Amino acid sequence: MAIRVQLSPRQAEAREEYESFAREAVAPSANGWDRAERLPEEFLKDFADRGYLASAVPPEYGGAGLDAITFGLLNEELGRGCSSVRSLVTVHGMACQAVARWGTASQRADWLPKLASGEAIGAFALTEPGAGSDVKALATTARRIGDGFRLDGAKRWITFGQRADVYLLFARLDGLETAFLVPRDAPGLEVRPITGVLGTRASMLAELDLADCRVAGDALLARPGFGLSAVAAGALELGRYSVAWGCVGLSQACLDASLDHADRRETFGVRLRDHQLVQRMIADMATGTAAARLLCQQAGWLRQARSTESLYATWLAKYHSSVTAFRSASDAVQVHGAHGCGGGYPVQRYLRDAKVMEIIEGSTELQQTTIAESAYHARPRATAPTSPTGEATA
Ligand SMILES: Cc1cc2nc3c(=O)[nH]c(=O)nc-3n(C[C@H](O)[C@H](O)[C@H](O)COP(=O)(O)OP(=O)(O)OC[C@H]3O[C@@H](n4cnc5c(N)ncnc54)[C@H](O)[C@@H]3O)c2cc1C
Repeated sequence: MAIRVQLSPRQAEAREEYESFAREAVAPSANGWDRAERLPEEFLKDFADRGYLASAVPPEYGGAGLDAITFGLLNEELGRGCSSVRSLVTVHGMACQAVARWGTASQRADWLPKLASGEAIGAFALTEPGAGSDVKALATTARRIGDGFRLDGAKRWITFGQRADVYLLFARLDGLETAFLVPRDAPGLEVRPITGVLGTRASMLAELDLADCRVAGDALLARPGFGLSAVAAGALELGRYSVAWGCVGLSQACLDASLDHADRRETFGVRLRDHQLVQRMIADMATGTAAARLLCQQAGWLRQARSTESLYATWLAKYHSSVTAFRSASDAVQVHGAHGCGGGYPVQRYLRDAKVMEIIEGSTELQQTTIAESAYHARPRATAPTSPTGEATA
């Protein structure tokens, strides 16, 4: 039972469509895709034809123009089926949103219809060997050469980097953090697959080497200096929102699998579901998932209302959902015992995928410090330090 509050009839209908697509066309293949470490082209075509790659593109460019809650529901149901598929919606959506928000008229006209139809896949290329959480350590450089730019540097852990046609890529231009749209076929760009990653194994990660990589002048997205503070920040905000909802689905999948297994498996003459310590794990999964869903809905409502509080609400949602997904996945493996450690059941994949969720789009620790700082920021400042009893000290 999943309680969902205040969905409009259209949102409820969309959720049903996403749920049945994920149940029939995603979940049954997800373990195989995980082993193959890729999504098949036929699946990508079907996915694009259904309009799921168009979700973050405005309607005037062929996009679906989904409201924030409906976009969240898509991510939840895909996350329930396969976190790698959900990751595609995340990074592709981040690239689409950046072009829609910051692109010139010609960049929007060139890229958005192709991104909406799936003719082009977008990826987000920020992380470098020496710059992960600390994005300010960005070391890739850009130099003006004639009408275009020369890029030099390296990007790592780029989701769907193997498959992308365009990279939303960040570099320093004259020292200023700057965003570029780098086409896959740019001379001097080498794309190398990363394999054997712990989780989201079908998300076709790549490292990008840029050595005297040449791009045209219209590859520049937004003004130099806006790269991290505006373009990347906005994209990461969407990414965090998408991952948070995906984690709700992942946690729900852990609960579903555990309910099934605990209902079938018997030990000591009774079903697992009748052991109180197993019930504790089921209860924690159910409660954590429901709380995560509500935090995501709260973030969605605030996004729709264009409230500045949506930023804080999204941090809360991403932090809680990812931590809950990992705990639910760990408990789901526990409920399954040895079966949970084998490749035949999905719960071992859930556990590996859930660990990744605590690292991407702002790690758990960065969410914790950001949330704590914001919580202090929201309070009136004490005028003077106080003693433990609340009395002012000298
Ligand atoms: C599967 C996967 C997919 C990814 N996809 C993409 C992608 O598509 N595009 C992209 O650009 N990047 C991507 N990344 C990279 C991801 O964004 C980074 O891994 C993430 O930003 C963390 O950076 P890092 O791995 O370098 O860890 P580090 O920054 O080295 O941090 C290591 C650990 O230290 C902790 N830590 C760091 N600083 C602090 C601090 N100030 N206080 C407390 N703790 C701290 C972190 O929380 C973390 O636990 C992906 C990573 C993975 C694993």
